[in-house]
Amino acid sequence: MNFTGTAYQPVDTIRQMQEEKLQQLLTYLKNHSPFYKKLFEQHNIHVSAIKTLEDLTLFPLTAKEDIQKQNEDFLCVDKKQIIEYTSTSGTLGSPVSIALTENDLQRLAYNEYNSFITADGSADDIYQLMLTLDRQFMAGIAYHMGIRKLGGSIIRVGPGVPALQWEIIQRQKPTIIVAVPSFILKLIQYAKEHAIDINKTSVKKAVCIGENIRNPDLSLNILGKKITEAWNIQLYSTYASTEMQTAFTECSAGCGGHLNPELLIVEVLDENNKPVAANTPGEITITTLGVEGMPLLRYKTGDVCMYFNEPCTCGRNTLRLSPILGRKKQMIKFKGTTIYPSALFDLLNEINEVNDYVVEVSTNDVGLDEILLHLYVADANSENDYRIRSYLQARLRVSPFVKYVSEDEIKKMQFSEASRKITRFIDKRI
Ligand SMILES: [Zn+2]
Repeated sequence: MNFTGTAYQPVDTIRQMQEEKLQQLLTYLKNHSPFYKKLFEQHNIHVSAIKTLEDLTLFPLTAKEDIQKQNEDFLCVDKKQIIEYTSTSGTLGSPVSIALTENDLQRLAYNEYNSFITADGSADDIYQLMLTLDRQFMAGIAYHMGIRKLGGSIIRVGPGVPALQWEIIQRQKPTIIVAVPSFILKLIQYAKEHAIDINKTSVKKAVCIGENIRNPDLSLNILGKKITEAWNIQLYSTYASTEMQTAFTECSAGCGGHLNPELLIVEVLDENNKPVAANTPGEITITTLGVEGMPLLRYKTGDVCMYFNEPCTCGRNTLRLSPILGRKKQMIKFKGTTIYPSALFDLLNEINEVNDYVVEVSTNDVGLDEILLHLYVADANSENDYRIRSYLQARLRVSPFVKYVSEDEIKKMQFSEASRKITRFIDKRI
């Protein structure tokens, strides 16, 4: 498989290629997918009548619950053909399993190869991977294969442990790190405390995963600012999910993650499942192209963001996605305003007095959303308390409940055996 350069083709050529691949997908689903075969029959849909991307709207949507409840019905191949069983992290509800064939793994390698090229990587680069390669984490294996395809070098360190990361950076001299942005901040903090001159190290770029580094208007958010003010490196944001088996990656222009058009069709839909205009928030809905094991048609990811379709200065003509505004299910309706946990995280990151936090949302006795912020602060004196509350009031215009907790208590809330990610949001709503 080699599609290098597809993103630079004229918009019409890209579209034509997607429509051809869509028809191949529909025929494949009709012949091999128990779930979609039934769905097409129930809705009396003849796949041969589907010609354009607009025709996609004739199909019903697929929800996360469908995969959770009927996981095996999505499988299009004999189990003997499965090479990898991956799984989502289960941030919301029970995890979703996605099985990959050898061809799917090759597709994943190609996807990540393209992503690293978009993020200005080359065969000369040495990548330090600060993330897990086990625990059924698809992205870990994707990065590894993508860098191999690129011809770059890999240092597999795994997540956490700043001391070890720095020791290896100094010894092995990576040019690019792949890490969660809040962990990059921890690296900077450790370097400061141990007199490491970070701007004299070999690292020039960071591919950021799992967290936003930009505001919805694409300016760097507080996390992105804190990193780049301390460390003279270029940041590249990414967005991906297990279900789509595809990544959206920023180029150096930093104006949204580029779509890999030969691997995915993306729709951004409103509350009534109608397409939204560019620059308008909506739910990302995906159709996988070229997937053999568990292809998905019009799958609602639950992630809310905006899309941009004006040409990018890098010369690619592909659609781009804004930073994720939030998870649809996590949307909080608080005293007349709509807010996502990620906006609260950004706000709490801005407050110097707050060392760490967990946001809890519950339903109060009149059925409305209530926010409780668990804050770990170095010194919970009345002066700091006043400053924190005033800041929240000024920025949110409404006051959430605040509870000060110890470092131990916050860690206990953030880490659970079942999850491989830090939890900073607890949803107790009914
Ligand atoms: Zn670009």
